[in-house]
Amino acid sequence: MSFQVFGIAVSRGVAIGRAVLVASSRVDVAHYFVAPDQIQAEIDRLLRARDAVVQELATLRDELPGDAPHELAALLDVHLMLLHDEAFTGGASQWIVDRHYNAEWALSAQLEVLARQFDEMEDDYLRERKADLEQVVERVLRALTHAQGNGQPPVSPRDFGGEDPLLLVAADIAPADMIQFKRSVFRGFITDIGGKTSHTAIVARSMDIPAVVGTREASRLIMQDDWVIIDGDAGTVIVNPSPIVLEEYRFRQRQSELERARLARLRHTPAVTLDGEHIELHANIEMPADGEAAVAAGATGVGLFRSEFLFMNRDGELPSEDEQFLAYKAAVEAMKGMPVTIRTVDVGADKPLDRLTVNELRHEHVLNPAMGLRAIRWSLAEPSMFRQQLRAIYRASAFGKVRLLIPMVAHLSEVRQILEMTRKVQQQLTDAGHAFTRVELGVMIEIPAAAIMLPLLLRYVDFVSIGTNDLIQYTLAIDRADEAVAHLYDPWHPAILQLIHQSILQSRLAGKGVSVCGEMAGDPDFTELLLAMGLRNFSMHPSQIPAVKQRVLRADTQRLAAVLPRVLEADDPQTVADRELAIARGGAAIVH
Ligand code: PEP
Ligand code: MG
Repeated sequence: MSFQVFGIAVSRGVAIGRAVLVASSRVDVAHYFVAPDQIQAEIDRLLRARDAVVQELATLRDELPGDAPHELAALLDVHLMLLHDEAFTGGASQWIVDRHYNAEWALSAQLEVLARQFDEMEDDYLRERKADLEQVVERVLRALTHAQGNGQPPVSPRDFGGEDPLLLVAADIAPADMIQFKRSVFRGFITDIGGKTSHTAIVARSMDIPAVVGTREASRLIMQDDWVIIDGDAGTVIVNPSPIVLEEYRFRQRQSELERARLARLRHTPAVTLDGEHIELHANIEMPADGEAAVAAGATGVGLFRSEFLFMNRDGELPSEDEQFLAYKAAVEAMKGMPVTIRTVDVGADKPLDRLTVNELRHEHVLNPAMGLRAIRWSLAEPSMFRQQLRAIYRASAFGKVRLLIPMVAHLSEVRQILEMTRKVQQQLTDAGHAFTRVELGVMIEIPAAAIMLPLLLRYVDFVSIGTNDLIQYTLAIDRADEAVAHLYDPWHPAILQLIHQSILQSRLAGKGVSVCGEMAGDPDFTELLLAMGLRNFSMHPSQIPAVKQRVLRADTQRLAAVLPRVLEADDPQTVADRELAIARGGAAIVH
């Protein structure tokens, strides 16, 4: 049966493929394909892990002390029975044979199938056996991790042809897990939870693949293997589409690929407006390896390196100074002399260090993580960690132009502490004989207080970067990761426009650099508005650069600036901007 699920569009384009349902807690399980000649070896690997767990449980049961509760033995028997059930390993093996999934993936896919069957059972006792099944799967997954892999490098489905594209469906995905999907087999994402600028959505966007979040119940309604269309522009998901709908979307998919190819030709065109204003289009990156995509997309620098992703997925261990230094140096070298703005670690809120999902965080006993010990507050509370990061950043400056960016600043005292620490760090590096060059200091404008007191902050810093994602969250009191209030998360709100405009004006007045690195910078719908406000430096995901550049090339900043007051004074700025900015837009299309 065909049906639609509605959510929030976070990453443009159309993806068509088969649904792969993954439980949120198992998103981190390895997902790769095995080569056809390795299928039997992979099944054997699965069976060996199953046998090891059988052995483990049988020993446990045999060695139960005489006075152990009877229920314990019964529980172990249930687990052993599940392990021998054909639906368990037989079903998982079938995924390996049919889909070439690796053993861990096959096992979690089969768990999803069986868990649904348990959910539908009438009998309470049987329904509750789902928890036993989950425990058994957990044990086998652990046994698989401990055992050696099949020794073969993972292969792509294209290597053996004929595989359908796969789209990941999960209740929620933690940013820490999402980052691991960067080079994954999935061609699109659907989640139940999340808002447009939640960090999971941001990483999906940086991967440049269609995604829809905040669907609330997609992971319950969509079945393993269903044919699914993700319309990343409209924020809709069409499940089991009719042939006519499928054809229509295939056509749109081809169109958007053509459009991308057309825009990619702008890569080497300098971003200059019709009236001759030079615009810097920088890239937001999460890993040093993203530098390559930034250069390929025509970025003229990195405006935001979200260094916190280096701190994730490490089981609580933080990266050492040397490890960080090598990562920053790699990013600097990848940018070939162009500036790299490294933001100090911004963990907390919806970006925990470990792989907690937003849902799990909501059940944690942190009262309000977005307003708690996050970003610079955490860094200043962990001075030795922070000094290590500062040293690593300064050391990387010996290899290119490095800028230091501080997230979530709200107090002058924070800036003073940072300045003091950077002085000490420079002294330490000099004493230790490490080379470094001048590093400009910038703060992010993400808290309304910082925007309002900007003239004071500007006395201490070299540049500012407006983080609109958080600025909107904190000005409007809307949790950016909460789909329930996503409709109120409004970049066009007059208060937001005032704060952004004032921040740009004040910075320019003080002769300091100002950029926007929140998601608004990469959304072509805001390009003219930001240009009208006087912005000349935008930072965004590399994949967004061509579309924004196209807008820049067609813009006349003087004409745009002339209509800005009408937009800012309007009750409904979006409607007025659509009309006025369109009229004030410059000449004809540049790209044909
Ligand atoms: C922002 O808040 O706009 C920003 C760029 O930082 P992040 O999205 O990482 O919080
Ligand atoms: Mg932020």
